[in-house]
Amino acid sequence: MTWTYVDMESIFFTRGVPARESIPVESLAKCAQDVILASGLDILQYAPAAGYLPLRKSLATKKKMDDSRVFLAQGSLQILDILLHCRLHPGDTVAVEQPTYDRVLTLMRRAHLEIVPIDLQSDGLDVEKLEKELNAGVPIRLLYVIPDFQNPSGISMSLEKRRRLVELSLQFGFCIVEDSPYRNLRYAGEEIPSIFDLSPESVIQLSSYSKLISPGLRVGYAFLPPDMVGSVNRYAEDTYINASYLNHAIVHRFIQDGLLDEHLLFLKGLYGERLRILLAALQENMEGIGSWTIPQGGFFVGLWVNEKYDLSSLISRAAASELHLSAGHGFFMNGGEYFIRLPFCALTPENITTGIARLRQLILE
Ligand code: PMP
Repeated sequence: MTWTYVDMESIFFTRGVPARESIPVESLAKCAQDVILASGLDILQYAPAAGYLPLRKSLATKKKMDDSRVFLAQGSLQILDILLHCRLHPGDTVAVEQPTYDRVLTLMRRAHLEIVPIDLQSDGLDVEKLEKELNAGVPIRLLYVIPDFQNPSGISMSLEKRRRLVELSLQFGFCIVEDSPYRNLRYAGEEIPSIFDLSPESVIQLSSYSKLISPGLRVGYAFLPPDMVGSVNRYAEDTYINASYLNHAIVHRFIQDGLLDEHLLFLKGLYGERLRILLAALQENMEGIGSWTIPQGGFFVGLWVNEKYDLSSLISRAAASELHLSAGHGFFMNGGEYFIRLPFCALTPENITTGIARLRQLILE
């Protein structure tokens, strides 16, 4: 079949963003008005860096921990940046999954850290490889992992590996940062305990409401080990004083009013359907061309194209045909040329189906 790309609709397999139609604009407008009228003088003033106390308290209660350990900021990525500066020094060694979230590699490079990539397997990080590095004396001080529906691969880490990572972190004295913004977006299968829940005194967990309510609110949070609370708060205060209490209060009101539980059900329906459509399109178009992950939640499917295909100009040829892809190597320290991240939540079912058929054609051309 020959394709004519004139007047084709643009399809963006580039950014992992929530669907535009998923953002609960009207409820948020009501929450915003309610909280400003009810407590405007508190939430519109300068305030302590740790964030709006009622939201911190409700998160702490769920985890049965002291609220001093809950830290809110402008999205979870900002908290990671703070952690890298508070916990580490230039030249220190960190380990990441390979592939991993590309912005995290940027933050780590910008902090002048030595990055050790550890390959991902179908059940998560290659823990044996990590152990070998540690036994060989590689001085890893921090391990960053996304165990639930990983960005960019969609892979989840097995419970066995989560347990082993905790053991290794205690044995070798490195800190685990568990980044789990997709954890509550499970469309199938059974929940796996978080690494944080396996060792709440030592693991740092990051998460946020970006994927659950709205990324524009920029509300992320961390559960910190007690010994990091002071340094993280000081660093934040000295950098930006405090994040937006107004936004924290809007999120808190949304949760208190029971809207989040309802909204999560809606998101799981919407996104679960899009995931099924993407997996069906891959089955139909990519057999023999590549292999892909079968996630049970989250925003991404990872596709590895067989190396016999020449993908050197794929991104530009795809863009010329209005199919927009991210360069796979951005998620890797080395390699990644045959990897394609497929975010599916913000695409219509038609765009997913057409996009994958178009991708097949481009790979075969
Ligand atoms: N961590 C991961 C794994 C992500 O995929 C993203 C968003 N793409 C973030 C952090 C950033 O989230 P936030 O909006 O909370 O800063």
